Amino acid sequence: MSADCLFCKIVAGDIPADVVHETETTLAFRDIGPKAPVHVLVIPKEHHADVAALALADAGLAGEVLAAAAAVARSEGLLTDGFRTIFNTGGYGGQEVFHVHAHVVGGAPLGPMLS
Ligand code: C5P
Repeated sequence: MSADCLFCKIVAGDIPADVVHETETTLAFRDIGPKAPVHVLVIPKEHHADVAALALADAGLAGEVLAAAAAVARSEGLLTDGFRTIFNTGGYGGQEVFHVHAHVVGGAPLGPMLS
C-alpha cells in the first residue's frame, strides 16, 4: 500500500467504491466520472504506479488484471458488441491516478481510438 494513493485507499475500504468484480489480487469498480454507458476501472490490489512498472515487476499480476478486465467485459455484457481497454500511462498518456488501472469502457460505439 502507498500512503497517499487514492486507489490503495479504495482497496483498504477507506474510500467507498461501487465494486463490480473482485479476485484475491484484483478489484474492479465503476469510474466516478463515466465516459461511456459502461466505464469500469480494474486495478491490482498491490500498488504499482503504471502498467509499465507493473509489467516489469510482476507480469503474472499484469495478466491477472487483463483477465479481470475480460471478466468485467463479460459480466457487463460487452463481449457481443465490443469494448475498449485503456491504460493511460504517464503525463503525456493522460494518467491522473498513479496506481495502475485498466479502463474498461463500452455499451455504445466509441469511435476512432484517439478521438
Ligand atoms: O487514467 P486516469 O488516471 O486519467 O484515470 C483516473 C480515473 O479515475 C478517472 O477516469 C476518474 O474519473 C477515476 N476516479 C474514480 N474514483 C475516484 C477518483 C478518480 O473512479 N475516487
